[in-house]
Parts: sequence; C-alpha cells; structure tokens
Amino acid sequence: MSSGDPTFSRPLNAAVQHALAHLGALDSLPVGAQANAKTLRDRLAKPLDAAGVDAEQVIQDLAVDVSGGLHTTGSGRFFAWVIGGSLPAALAADWLTSAWDQNAHNYGCGPAAAVAEEVVGGWLKSVLGLPDSASFALVTGCQMAHTTCLAAARHAVLEQRGWDVEKLGLYGATPIRILSTEQAHGSIERALRFLGLGTVHWTQLPADSNGQLPPDVLTAALATDPSAPTIVILQAGDLNIGAFDRFAELIPIAKKHGAWVHVDGAFGLWVAASPRHKHLLRGVESADSWATDGHKWLNVPYDCGYALIADSSAHAKAMAHRASYISYSSEARDQADWNPEWSRRARGFASYAALRQLGTDGVKDLIERCCEHTTALVCGIGSLPGAEIVWKSQINQGLVRFLDTKPTASAADHDRRTNDVIEYINATGEAFFSGTTWRGRRAMRVSVCNWQTDAADVERTIACVARILER
Ligand SMILES: *Cc1c(COP(=O)(O)O)cnc(C)c1O
Repeated sequence: MSSGDPTFSRPLNAAVQHALAHLGALDSLPVGAQANAKTLRDRLAKPLDAAGVDAEQVIQDLAVDVSGGLHTTGSGRFFAWVIGGSLPAALAADWLTSAWDQNAHNYGCGPAAAVAEEVVGGWLKSVLGLPDSASFALVTGCQMAHTTCLAAARHAVLEQRGWDVEKLGLYGATPIRILSTEQAHGSIERALRFLGLGTVHWTQLPADSNGQLPPDVLTAALATDPSAPTIVILQAGDLNIGAFDRFAELIPIAKKHGAWVHVDGAFGLWVAASPRHKHLLRGVESADSWATDGHKWLNVPYDCGYALIADSSAHAKAMAHRASYISYSSEARDQADWNPEWSRRARGFASYAALRQLGTDGVKDLIERCCEHTTALVCGIGSLPGAEIVWKSQINQGLVRFLDTKPTASAADHDRRTNDVIEYINATGEAFFSGTTWRGRRAMRVSVCNWQTDAADVERTIACVARILER
C-alpha cells in the first residue's frame, strides 16, 4: 500500500482537517460544551449497520455529531478542575502512537516504545528532582499511579513483618494502617479499595489553616499504634488551594516508625521545575513513592500518569510476572515488570515528545506562567465588586466566591450566588470554571494548567466576570 492509497488517507485526512479546524477555533469556540445529553444521544445513537459504514464517513459523521458537546479544554480560558491542554508535539506523537499501534507490554512487543519509556523515566526523575535509582511506570493517570505505588507499599510493609502478600493475599495479614490528611483526593480512597486495604483502616487527619498536616498530629497518630504496618500519604498540591505538606519535617517522623510515605503530586510535583516554587517540595525526594500526571500540568493528551518508587524491588515484586509465551529482554527495560496493565498503549511517545518540545526551560516557563496567570485571575476577579478572594493562589490553584449583596444575606445566600455566577460565566462560553465546597463554603476554583493561557485570556475572563457582576 502506497501513501496514495485512500484506505487510510481518506479517514486520516478527514481527521486532520477536523482536528485543525477545532484547534484553529480554540479562541472563538464556546469554552464549555453547549449541547445537552438528549441532543448528543439523538445524533450519536444511530442503528449499528450490519454492513458497516465507509471509514471516512464514520469520521465525518462523528465530527458533526459531537459538535457542541465538547468542552474546549484546549482553550486558554478553560479553568475548571485540573485539566491541561495538549502540546503540539505531544498531540502529534499521540496520533503516531495509534498509527504505529505498538503493544507496550514489554521490549519484545515494541522495542522503540520500551526504550522511549526508559528515556522518559530518566527525564522525569531529573525534572522532578527524584532519586536516579527510583523505578517507575507510565500508567493511565494518577489514579493508577496511586494503585501501583500503594501495591508496592502494601508489599513492603507486610514483607517487613514476614508476610508475602502476593502469595498469601490479605487474609490473615495484620491490617495496614493508612494515614493522610482530610483533603486527600478521592483517587486515594479508590486505590485503597482496589487493593483490598479497606477504608476502615484509613484515618484522615486534620490539616492546619494552610492545609498542611501538622507534625505533632502525625506523631500523635503514629503513636496510637506504634507497631502497626503503616502507609502515610502526603500531598504535593491539593486541588482546592494547592497545599503542600512539609515533607522535610513529616517524612523523617513517618520513617522513624517504619512507615512507607507516598506522595500525591498529581500536578503539584511539577513545581520542582520552577526555581521560584520548588521550595514547596523541600524534602519530598526522601519519600518512598510519588504519583503524578502527564495529562494535567505537562499538557500531554489523556491518558498519561506516572508512578515513581524508591524501592524498585518492592515495585517489581508487586507487579512483575513471567509468562512462557513472552520473550523477556536482558538489554532493555520490560514495562510489564513495573506496570499493572498487560497489553497497553505505547504512551511513552507522547510524554517523550512533550518533554523534548519544552526542554527543561520550557517546563519551568509553563509552570511559572500558569502560576502567574492564576494569581492575576484570583486577584482580578476577587477585587471586583460583589466578589471576594477566598484563597490567594501560591501555585496554580486559587479560590474566589461571589456575594449576595442584600443586607440580610446569609451564608446560604452567598453559596447560592456563587453557584449562580459560575453558571452565568460558563453559559457565556467566554470561560469555564468549576465550583467546590471548601471549609463549609461554596467557592469558584481558579485552576490554570494550559500552555496556551496568556495575559489576554486573563483580561478577557476578568472582563466577562465583571460584566456578569454588573448586571
Ligand atoms: C487529578 C488528581 C488525581 C487523580 O488523577 P487522575 O490522573 O485523574 O487519575 C489525584 N490527586 C490529585 C491531587 C489530583 O488533582
């Protein structure tokens, strides 16, 4: 088949045209999706033909049918949740990943995919300031990075007590105690559930007014059952205020009790690339495992997360498996020794492309730029009449809220007003935000994770909110 053969070129060219049309319109498309579920279902729920449909037609129809049903997450004015854009090189590499269709199970199934991951792992450790000797896995997201890291933790803390969890399971094992702060992300709970660790053994400790776990609170919690196998989960950037635990103080306390320390750094771990912000991570390199994302702040397309583990032996014992029908490599890294999946996407190519496009200065600029724009948005919106700053951002997450101006307004009225204003902003299509309940009050999250966001986006967004508050 030559490149002139239409079998692939027709659907792929159609995809390129639609992709370029979408990407070229990022500045003018409504930022939030406008179509409702009924509209989308009416368009997409076509009868499944017995004979199938021409490949190019499938793509043309798909692009038409989803229109209005996509959030413009690539827009510089998408500030909801923690959602990055896609860097051009990463997006292009992601397309090639599908065209090449490698099974990145191990080196034998896809040599270049295995080596690309090997290289990405080294680059990640260097950019994130983590130990060179740490093992790693490229997984679907931070959720699976937690699951991978905590499987290694489960192995290690039980092995210390002579228990082989891979062989014996958890039946009859001493329960593992989990300690975190109360703002631990929901993906932690799910990882505990997947791994059979049981949420009943999980204690969420109170954080201080800065969202940090106080050392004396950790010390007291550890002392309640000094001999229990323990995993301590710390936070590098929580999703409401971007709080960082004080690793340099907390990790030695946990280690003194023989605990495994895991760090949720889904986006916050990336401030390691910024001389201005990396002090927030002081001491983080002495943890036992770290989970972070590529698809958030690094702007790799979904799905892309990274698990990094200091004790590579615990990591391998939790994950590795040998099957007689697969050939293993002695000269390169086999991903199956480190990853929870069997067959898997060669997702290393997109991370490789993102890191190469940016370079170390580019990662630093991306991180610092997002932080600056967050501060400008929080201060700009928060100083408008009828608005209030709830949390001035220290990195790329801040909170504002909107006040009901009637003199008798109650807390519930301010909450309602905040929800309403978020809805009004999103309905304009000018920007898109999400809400949260933080310390008992509704607030609007300001979260900037996109390489495309610039000062013009910030101004345009503040102007949009100002118009809404005036009416
Ligand atoms: C997004 C997020 C997660 C979950 O990551 P996924 O990549 O969505 O699985 C975990 N922790 C924090 C702090 C997050 O922001």
